[in-house]
Amino acid sequence: MNEHDSERIAGLFEQDGMIKATSIENSDILFVNTCTIRENADDKLYGTLGQLKVWKSKNINRKLLVGGCAAQKDKELVRNRAPWVDVVMGTHNLTDVVHLLNQSEDWGPITEVADSIETLPTDAPSIRESEVSALVTIQIGCDNSCTFCIVPSVRGPEISRRPSDILNEVTKLVDSGIKEITLLGQNVNSYGRDLKINGKSKPYFSELLYILNEIDGLKRIRFTSPHPKDFKDVTLNAVSTLDKVTKQIHIPLQSGSDTILRKMQRGYNKKKFLEKVDSAIIKIDNVSLTTDVIVGFPGESESDFEETLSVLKYAKFDAVYMFKFSPRPGTKAADYKDEFIDQDVINDRFMRLKQLQTEISHKRLKRFIGTTQMLLIENYSKKTNEFMTGKIDGGHTTHISSKNINIGDYVTVLINDATPFALKSELV
Ligand code: SF4
Repeated sequence: MNEHDSERIAGLFEQDGMIKATSIENSDILFVNTCTIRENADDKLYGTLGQLKVWKSKNINRKLLVGGCAAQKDKELVRNRAPWVDVVMGTHNLTDVVHLLNQSEDWGPITEVADSIETLPTDAPSIRESEVSALVTIQIGCDNSCTFCIVPSVRGPEISRRPSDILNEVTKLVDSGIKEITLLGQNVNSYGRDLKINGKSKPYFSELLYILNEIDGLKRIRFTSPHPKDFKDVTLNAVSTLDKVTKQIHIPLQSGSDTILRKMQRGYNKKKFLEKVDSAIIKIDNVSLTTDVIVGFPGESESDFEETLSVLKYAKFDAVYMFKFSPRPGTKAADYKDEFIDQDVINDRFMRLKQLQTEISHKRLKRFIGTTQMLLIENYSKKTNEFMTGKIDGGHTTHISSKNINIGDYVTVLINDATPFALKSELV
C-alpha cells in the first residue's frame, strides 16, 4: 500500500512539472513516505530525518516532506522531533501533496493530518515502478481490530472503490502495456460491503474478479491480502475458474494457537483456519498457499508456538512471511507488557520456524521441476544482466538466462531447478 502511495505521489509531482532526480544529492524536493508497521521503521525514520537535515542545509531552496503512516500516527511528534521538515502530512492527505508543498513555500513549515477520508482519491496519477506489473488499490482502511496492528488507526475504516472506477484504471493500464495487476486492500475479502450500486449493496470481491477477467490483453490478476475469517467459497470458486486469476492464495495465519488468536482478536480459530486451507486445496488445482506468522506475541507459551508449527506442517505453505512480535504504541497488544516474551525465546522460536519452513518450501518448490510454466519477465537479475527474473502463476520468483528475452515477455519455460526461495528455468 505504501509503495503504491509513493507511485501516486511521484505521479502528482510529475503532473506539477517536476522530474525524477537521479540521486538524493541531485534533488530539490524529497518526500519520505513512512511505514509504522514495525518498531524499527519508526527508529529508521528519525535517523533518516537527521541525515536529511544536513542535505537540506546545503541549499536553502530544498524542501523536505514526510507522509505516510508514521506521520499519520505521530503528527506533532514528527514536527517536534524534526522541525526542519517543511511538510508533515497524513495518509488521508495524499492528493493534497502539491498544494501543501506550495503552501509551505508561502507560509513556512506546515503539518496537515486529516483524521479520515470521505471517498477514495481515484484519479490521482501514478508513476509506476514496473513496466509490466501494476498495483491497483481497490480498498483502503480496515474495519477489523487485530490487537497487534496499527493499520485501522492510521488508515481509518474500510472504503471501497467503485468497480467501474477500478475497471477504468485497469483498462488504461493494460492499454499502456501492463500485463499483470495486483489488487490491493487490507482485507480484500470484504471489498464492496460499504458500496451501494444501483441500490444494491455488497458487490462481492469475487464479482470484481469476474469483471476484470474480461479485459483483453490482461494476462494475470493477483490480490492481497484476504482475511481468513472473510474468505468466501465464491472467491475460491472465482480463483479456480477464472483463467487470468492466479492460483495463489495468501491466507494470513499469524498464530496456530486458539488462545493467542483470541488475544489477537483475529476472529477465527485453528480449526476454522485449517478448513479454509482444506477448501482452497480441494477447489483450486495445484494452489500455491502463502501465509504470515507472528512469533512471540505476548503470552505465547511453548505449546502455543508448537500449535503454529503444527499448522505449518499440515498446510505446507509455499512460503511464510515471518515476523518477530514488536509492540506498536497505540495498539492493544502494546499494553500486554506483563506478558511480553523474552527476546532470546523469540529469537529461538523464530529460528525453529524458519528452519522448518525452509525445508517445507524447498520440497514444495521442487514440485515444479520438470513442468512447463508461463513466466512473466519483470526485470534483470539484481546480480547480473545475464539472467532475468519474473514470476510464474503461483507467484514464485523464477530466474532464466536473458538471451533472447525481454522485460514484459510472457513465455513458456521449463523449470529445471528449485531452491527454497526461487526457481530456475529455461526457455521452451
Ligand atoms: S485485518 Fe489486517 S489490517 Fe486489519 S487490523 Fe487485522 S492485521 Fe491489521
